[in-house]
Amino acid sequence: MEEKLFKVALAWEKAEKPVVFTGAGMSAESGVPTFRGQEGLWRKFDVEKAAYLDSFLDDPEPFWEMTRELLLKKQVKPNAGHFALAKLEREGFLQGIITQNIDGLHQKAGSRRVFELHGSMEKLDCLDCKKVYDWEGVLKGVEKGEVKCICGSKKVKPRLVFFGESLPQKVLEKASELVEDCDLMIVIGSSLQVYPAASLPQIAFHKGAEMVLINSEKTPFDYYFNWIFREAAGKVLPELEEKILGGNQK
Ligand code: NAD
Ligand code: ZN
Repeated sequence: MEEKLFKVALAWEKAEKPVVFTGAGMSAESGVPTFRGQEGLWRKFDVEKAAYLDSFLDDPEPFWEMTRELLLKKQVKPNAGHFALAKLEREGFLQGIITQNIDGLHQKAGSRRVFELHGSMEKLDCLDCKKVYDWEGVLKGVEKGEVKCICGSKKVKPRLVFFGESLPQKVLEKASELVEDCDLMIVIGSSLQVYPAASLPQIAFHKGAEMVLINSEKTPFDYYFNWIFREAAGKVLPELEEKILGGNQK
Protein backbone atom coordinates (compact mmCIF):
# COMPACT_ATOMS: atom_id res chain seq x y z
CA MET A 1 0.00 0.00 0.00
CA GLU A 2 2.75 2.42 1.00
CA GLU A 3 4.59 2.00 -2.30
CA LYS A 4 1.39 2.39 -4.31
CA LEU A 5 0.49 5.52 -2.37
CA PHE A 6 3.90 6.94 -3.11
CA LYS A 7 3.67 6.18 -6.84
CA VAL A 8 0.18 7.61 -7.21
CA ALA A 9 1.11 10.73 -5.24
CA LEU A 10 4.05 11.20 -7.59
CA ALA A 11 1.87 10.76 -10.69
CA TRP A 12 -0.68 13.23 -9.22
CA GLU A 13 2.04 15.80 -8.46
CA LYS A 14 3.42 15.52 -11.96
CA ALA A 15 0.06 15.62 -13.74
CA GLU A 16 -0.80 18.90 -15.41
CA LYS A 17 -4.52 18.35 -15.56
CA PRO A 18 -5.75 15.93 -12.93
CA VAL A 19 -9.52 15.42 -12.76
CA VAL A 20 -11.60 13.54 -10.18
CA PHE A 21 -14.80 11.60 -10.90
CA THR A 22 -16.91 10.63 -7.88
CA GLY A 23 -19.91 8.44 -7.13
CA ALA A 24 -21.98 7.45 -4.14
CA GLY A 25 -19.08 5.62 -2.42
CA MET A 26 -17.41 9.02 -1.90
CA SER A 27 -20.13 9.91 0.61
CA ALA A 28 -20.57 6.49 2.21
CA GLU A 29 -18.36 7.48 5.15
CA SER A 30 -20.54 10.56 5.63
CA GLY A 31 -23.42 8.21 6.38
CA VAL A 32 -25.09 8.51 2.96
CA PRO A 33 -25.95 5.03 1.70
CA THR A 34 -24.88 4.02 -1.81
CA PHE A 35 -27.25 2.58 -4.42
CA ARG A 36 -25.40 -0.60 -5.20
CA GLY A 37 -23.04 -2.60 -3.03
CA GLN A 38 -23.74 -4.49 0.15
CA GLU A 39 -25.52 -1.75 2.08
CA GLY A 40 -27.05 -0.32 -1.09
CA LEU A 41 -30.44 1.42 -1.19
CA TRP A 42 -31.59 -0.81 -4.05
CA ARG A 43 -31.82 -3.67 -1.60
CA LYS A 44 -34.35 -1.69 0.38
CA PHE A 45 -36.27 0.41 -2.13
CA ASP A 46 -38.08 -0.29 -5.36
CA VAL A 47 -36.08 1.56 -8.02
CA GLU A 48 -39.04 1.75 -10.37
CA LYS A 49 -41.12 3.58 -7.80
CA ALA A 50 -38.46 5.68 -6.11
CA ALA A 51 -36.24 6.94 -8.89
CA TYR A 52 -38.13 7.16 -12.18
CA LEU A 53 -39.61 10.46 -13.26
CA ASP A 54 -42.95 8.94 -14.34
CA SER A 55 -43.40 7.26 -10.99
CA PHE A 56 -42.49 10.46 -9.14
CA LEU A 57 -45.14 12.38 -11.07
CA ASP A 58 -47.74 9.69 -10.26
CA ASP A 59 -46.82 9.40 -6.60
CA PRO A 60 -43.83 11.25 -5.13
CA GLU A 61 -43.98 9.54 -1.73
CA PRO A 62 -41.57 6.60 -2.46
CA PHE A 63 -39.00 9.13 -3.65
CA TRP A 64 -39.32 11.20 -0.47
CA GLU A 65 -39.12 8.08 1.65
CA MET A 66 -35.82 7.21 -0.01
CA THR A 67 -34.59 10.80 0.34
CA ARG A 68 -35.21 10.62 4.08
CA GLU A 69 -33.02 7.54 4.25
CA LEU A 70 -30.41 9.09 1.95
CA LEU A 71 -29.98 12.53 3.43
CA LEU A 72 -31.83 12.89 6.72
CA LYS A 73 -31.35 9.76 8.76
CA LYS A 74 -27.91 10.64 9.95
CA GLN A 75 -26.27 13.97 10.16
CA VAL A 76 -24.70 14.27 6.75
CA LYS A 77 -21.37 16.10 6.71
CA PRO A 78 -18.36 15.99 4.42
CA ASN A 79 -15.79 13.33 5.37
CA ALA A 80 -11.99 13.39 5.38
CA GLY A 81 -11.95 12.41 1.69
CA HIS A 82 -14.07 15.41 0.65
CA PHE A 83 -11.80 17.73 2.64
CA ALA A 84 -8.63 16.26 1.13
CA LEU A 85 -9.96 16.91 -2.41
CA ALA A 86 -10.93 20.48 -1.53
CA LYS A 87 -7.45 21.12 -0.21
CA LEU A 88 -5.79 19.66 -3.30
CA GLU A 89 -7.89 21.95 -5.48
CA ARG A 90 -6.98 25.01 -3.37
CA GLU A 91 -3.31 24.18 -3.71
CA GLY A 92 -3.51 23.86 -7.50
CA PHE A 93 -3.50 20.06 -7.79
CA LEU A 94 -6.98 19.55 -9.19
CA GLN A 95 -8.73 20.85 -12.31
CA GLY A 96 -12.17 19.89 -11.10
CA ILE A 97 -14.51 17.27 -9.68
CA ILE A 98 -17.13 15.60 -11.82
CA THR A 99 -19.69 14.02 -9.53
CA GLN A 100 -22.72 11.79 -9.83
CA ASN A 101 -23.70 12.69 -6.27
CA ILE A 102 -26.60 14.93 -5.42
CA ASP A 103 -25.67 15.55 -1.79
CA GLY A 104 -23.65 18.78 -2.19
CA LEU A 105 -20.89 17.48 0.11
CA HIS A 106 -17.98 18.43 -2.17
CA GLN A 107 -19.08 22.06 -2.08
CA LYS A 108 -19.66 21.91 1.68
CA ALA A 109 -16.07 20.74 2.08
CA GLY A 110 -14.86 23.75 0.07
CA SER A 111 -14.44 22.40 -3.46
CA ARG A 112 -15.16 25.09 -6.05
CA ARG A 113 -15.06 23.50 -9.47
CA VAL A 114 -17.73 20.83 -9.08
CA PHE A 115 -19.75 19.52 -12.02
CA GLU A 116 -22.93 17.82 -10.83
CA LEU A 117 -23.92 15.43 -13.61
CA HIS A 118 -27.11 14.38 -11.84
CA GLY A 119 -28.09 17.77 -10.44
CA SER A 120 -28.70 18.35 -6.73
CA MET A 121 -31.35 18.81 -4.04
CA GLU A 122 -30.46 22.46 -3.56
CA LYS A 123 -33.38 23.85 -5.60
CA LEU A 124 -36.82 22.42 -6.26
CA ASP A 125 -39.59 23.54 -8.64
CA CYS A 126 -43.33 23.26 -8.25
CA LEU A 127 -44.28 21.85 -11.64
CA ASP A 128 -47.78 23.37 -11.33
CA CYS A 129 -47.32 26.99 -10.19
CA LYS A 130 -43.55 27.22 -10.92
CA LYS A 131 -42.65 28.40 -7.43
CA VAL A 132 -39.00 27.68 -6.63
CA TYR A 133 -38.02 26.25 -3.24
CA ASP A 134 -34.64 25.64 -1.70
CA TRP A 135 -33.76 22.50 0.25
CA GLU A 136 -34.22 24.20 3.64
CA GLY A 137 -37.68 25.32 2.50
CA VAL A 138 -38.91 21.74 2.07
CA LEU A 139 -37.01 20.07 4.89
CA LYS A 140 -39.94 20.03 7.32
CA GLY A 141 -42.13 18.45 4.66
CA VAL A 142 -39.50 15.82 3.90
CA GLU A 143 -39.22 14.99 7.62
CA LYS A 144 -42.99 14.74 8.02
CA GLY A 145 -43.33 12.58 4.95
CA GLU A 146 -45.13 14.93 2.60
CA VAL A 147 -43.75 17.73 0.47
CA LYS A 148 -46.41 20.12 -0.77
CA CYS A 149 -46.30 23.51 -2.50
CA ILE A 150 -48.30 26.42 -1.08
CA CYS A 151 -50.51 26.04 -4.18
CA GLY A 152 -51.44 22.55 -2.94
CA SER A 153 -49.52 20.62 -5.58
CA LYS A 154 -47.41 17.64 -4.57
CA LYS A 155 -45.34 17.90 -7.73
CA VAL A 156 -42.41 19.66 -6.12
CA LYS A 157 -39.53 18.30 -8.11
CA PRO A 158 -35.89 18.63 -7.04
CA ARG A 159 -33.49 19.70 -9.76
CA LEU A 160 -31.88 16.33 -9.97
CA VAL A 161 -31.81 13.86 -12.78
CA PHE A 162 -34.34 11.07 -12.32
CA PHE A 163 -34.09 7.87 -14.32
CA GLY A 164 -35.73 8.62 -17.62
CA GLU A 165 -34.43 12.21 -17.73
CA SER A 166 -31.48 13.48 -19.69
CA LEU A 167 -28.42 15.01 -18.06
CA PRO A 168 -28.07 18.80 -17.86
CA GLN A 169 -26.49 19.54 -21.25
CA LYS A 170 -24.17 22.38 -20.20
CA VAL A 171 -22.76 20.50 -17.23
CA LEU A 172 -22.16 17.44 -19.39
CA GLU A 173 -20.38 19.56 -22.01
CA LYS A 174 -18.10 21.19 -19.42
CA ALA A 175 -17.38 17.85 -17.80
CA SER A 176 -16.59 16.29 -21.18
CA GLU A 177 -14.16 19.12 -21.97
CA LEU A 178 -12.35 18.52 -18.69
CA VAL A 179 -12.14 14.82 -19.41
CA GLU A 180 -10.93 15.25 -22.99
CA ASP A 181 -8.16 17.40 -21.65
CA CYS A 182 -7.10 15.53 -18.53
CA ASP A 183 -3.87 13.59 -18.17
CA LEU A 184 -4.78 11.90 -14.87
CA MET A 185 -8.21 10.68 -13.86
CA ILE A 186 -9.01 9.56 -10.33
CA VAL A 187 -12.29 7.65 -10.04
CA ILE A 188 -13.67 7.40 -6.51
CA GLY A 189 -16.59 5.37 -5.13
CA SER A 190 -18.45 4.57 -8.32
CA SER A 191 -19.67 1.21 -9.56
CA LEU A 192 -19.34 2.64 -13.11
CA GLN A 193 -22.70 1.25 -14.10
CA VAL A 194 -24.80 4.39 -14.58
CA TYR A 195 -24.72 5.90 -18.07
CA PRO A 196 -23.90 8.29 -19.63
CA ALA A 197 -21.89 9.34 -16.53
CA ALA A 198 -19.80 6.16 -16.60
CA SER A 199 -18.69 6.89 -20.15
CA LEU A 200 -16.52 9.81 -18.93
CA PRO A 201 -13.80 7.65 -17.34
CA GLN A 202 -13.88 5.54 -20.51
CA ILE A 203 -13.13 8.64 -22.60
CA ALA A 204 -10.19 9.54 -20.34
CA PHE A 205 -8.83 6.00 -20.65
CA HIS A 206 -9.10 6.00 -24.45
CA LYS A 207 -7.44 9.42 -24.58
CA GLY A 208 -4.45 7.92 -22.79
CA ALA A 209 -4.82 9.54 -19.36
CA GLU A 210 -3.27 7.75 -16.41
CA MET A 211 -6.04 6.15 -14.37
CA VAL A 212 -6.51 5.67 -10.61
CA LEU A 213 -9.45 3.90 -8.96
CA ILE A 214 -10.40 4.15 -5.28
CA ASN A 215 -13.35 1.82 -4.81
CA SER A 216 -14.08 -0.78 -2.17
CA GLU A 217 -15.55 -3.31 -4.60
CA LYS A 218 -14.74 -4.46 -8.13
CA THR A 219 -16.15 -2.59 -11.12
CA PRO A 220 -16.66 -3.94 -14.66
CA PHE A 221 -13.89 -1.58 -15.83
CA ASP A 222 -11.09 -2.34 -13.41
CA TYR A 223 -8.84 -3.13 -16.38
CA TYR A 224 -8.78 0.59 -17.30
CA PHE A 225 -6.80 1.49 -14.22
CA ASN A 226 -3.06 1.77 -13.71
CA TRP A 227 -3.56 1.78 -9.93
CA ILE A 228 -6.43 0.44 -7.82
CA PHE A 229 -7.05 1.06 -4.13
CA ARG A 230 -9.67 -1.40 -2.89
CA GLU A 231 -10.16 0.73 0.21
CA ALA A 232 -12.28 3.48 1.69
CA ALA A 233 -12.02 6.90 0.05
CA GLY A 234 -11.95 8.62 3.46
CA LYS A 235 -8.78 6.73 4.30
CA VAL A 236 -6.86 6.81 1.01
CA LEU A 237 -7.48 10.43 -0.01
CA PRO A 238 -6.07 12.12 3.13
CA GLU A 239 -2.97 9.93 2.82
CA LEU A 240 -2.49 10.90 -0.80
CA GLU A 241 -3.12 14.54 0.01
CA GLU A 242 -0.51 14.49 2.74
CA LYS A 243 2.06 12.94 0.42
CA ILE A 244 1.33 15.40 -2.39
CA LEU A 245 1.17 18.53 -0.28
CA GLY A 246 3.92 17.68 2.19
CA GLY A 247 5.94 20.84 1.62
CA ASN A 248 4.96 20.90 -2.00
CA GLN A 249 2.39 23.70 -2.47
CA LYS A 250 2.13 24.87 -6.08
P1 NAD B 1 -23.09 3.08 -6.75
O1 NAD B 1 -23.96 3.06 -5.54
O2 NAD B 1 -23.55 2.36 -7.95
O3 NAD B 1 -21.65 2.47 -6.38
C1 NAD B 1 -20.94 2.93 -5.28
C2 NAD B 1 -19.57 2.24 -5.27
O4 NAD B 1 -18.82 2.80 -4.20
C3 NAD B 1 -19.66 0.73 -5.04
O5 NAD B 1 -18.89 0.08 -6.05
C4 NAD B 1 -19.00 0.54 -3.65
O6 NAD B 1 -18.22 -0.60 -3.60
C5 NAD B 1 -18.13 1.77 -3.53
N1 NAD B 1 -17.91 2.25 -2.15
C6 NAD B 1 -18.76 2.15 -1.09
N2 NAD B 1 -18.23 2.76 -0.02
C7 NAD B 1 -17.01 3.23 -0.39
C8 NAD B 1 -15.98 3.94 0.28
N3 NAD B 1 -16.12 4.31 1.56
N4 NAD B 1 -14.86 4.27 -0.41
C9 NAD B 1 -14.73 3.89 -1.72
N5 NAD B 1 -15.68 3.21 -2.40
C10 NAD B 1 -16.80 2.88 -1.74
O7 NAD B 1 -22.79 4.58 -7.03
P2 NAD B 1 -22.63 5.40 -8.39
O8 NAD B 1 -21.69 4.72 -9.30
O9 NAD B 1 -22.39 6.79 -7.95
O10 NAD B 1 -24.05 5.34 -9.10
C11 NAD B 1 -25.19 5.55 -8.32
C12 NAD B 1 -26.14 6.64 -8.74
O11 NAD B 1 -26.81 6.95 -7.54
C13 NAD B 1 -25.54 7.92 -9.18
O12 NAD B 1 -26.26 8.31 -10.27
C14 NAD B 1 -25.79 8.93 -8.04
O13 NAD B 1 -26.40 10.08 -8.57
C15 NAD B 1 -26.83 8.29 -7.17
N6 NAD B 1 -26.59 8.33 -5.72
C16 NAD B 1 -26.07 9.44 -5.12
C17 NAD B 1 -25.81 9.46 -3.76
C18 NAD B 1 -25.24 10.72 -3.15
O14 NAD B 1 -25.52 11.82 -3.62
N7 NAD B 1 -24.40 10.59 -2.13
C19 NAD B 1 -26.08 8.34 -2.99
C20 NAD B 1 -26.64 7.21 -3.62
C21 NAD B 1 -26.87 7.21 -4.99
ZN1 ZN C 1 -47.11 25.27 -6.62
